[in-house]
Amino acid sequence: MNTRLVSVHGGHSGGFCSHAKDSLENIVQAYINRGFSWVGITEHMPAVSDRFVYPDEREAGLDASALQCRFDDYFKTCRRLKQKYSEQIDILVGFESETYTGSEKSIRAIIDTHKPEYFVGSLHHVDDIEIDSTEEGYRRAVDRSGSLENLYCRYFDQQLEMVQRLKPAVVGHFDLVRIFDPDYTTRLKSPAVQERVQRNLFAISELGLILDLNLAGFDKAAGEPYPSRDILTSAIGLGIPIVPGDDSHGVQTVGRYFEEGVDLLRELGGILEWQRPVT
Ligand SMILES: [Zn+2]
Ligand SMILES: [Zn+2]
Repeated sequence: MNTRLVSVHGGHSGGFCSHAKDSLENIVQAYINRGFSWVGITEHMPAVSDRFVYPDEREAGLDASALQCRFDDYFKTCRRLKQKYSEQIDILVGFESETYTGSEKSIRAIIDTHKPEYFVGSLHHVDDIEIDSTEEGYRRAVDRSGSLENLYCRYFDQQLEMVQRLKPAVVGHFDLVRIFDPDYTTRLKSPAVQERVQRNLFAISELGLILDLNLAGFDKAAGEPYPSRDILTSAIGLGIPIVPGDDSHGVQTVGRYFEEGVDLLRELGGILEWQRPVT
């Protein structure tokens, strides 16, 4: 492989994320050992209120204010590690956002307070219902939307609004809404969804944002990254910079599926020079 190892999205760690493993320092060392040139560490933002605390966090006895403290600590630790390992790897200190009622205000406050180098703009909710951790939650969101197709439409409408209002340097796992839908290829081809996908890609391209080639998707039954193949083809056609993100949640998942991602991009005619989200 003659392309540089990078990750635009990842470094979730056991110390700062209840569904991740290992310390951030061990994860940074894993990136160094694997020979990464640069890596964006993008821990999840904390819940804006107790209502949005995830079940695994609740089980760990954390509420919104405890999560806020943990997140403040994350930035301190990440900056310390950036300094400590600066000779070996270029660490970008970032975070991954949420999109739900009240998230925008909180994202702006995080940017003001912590001055991250960039953030990954993600949705893990549709109309305030979480879609990406359990099938049960996903079903609830489908019921609320009325149909799977409506869920996709709502997801992409809320993504567009987020992208236009916040202009995140990186758009995370673009089509995550397909996560628990075995027949997503049909759904993505429906005219109402297709029109929204193209519209959002066009906005991303106009704003000059990067698309996260989210390699965690290879882990799922679908066996392809987010975004899926056809969307990647459109993104490449629009000249949108696409950059691998391993979405690592522990030492084990550092750099996973990087080669598969690169092979796919190469096959689709994508550019294999990675744009850094900050210069
Ligand atoms: Zn996570
Ligand atoms: Zn995510």
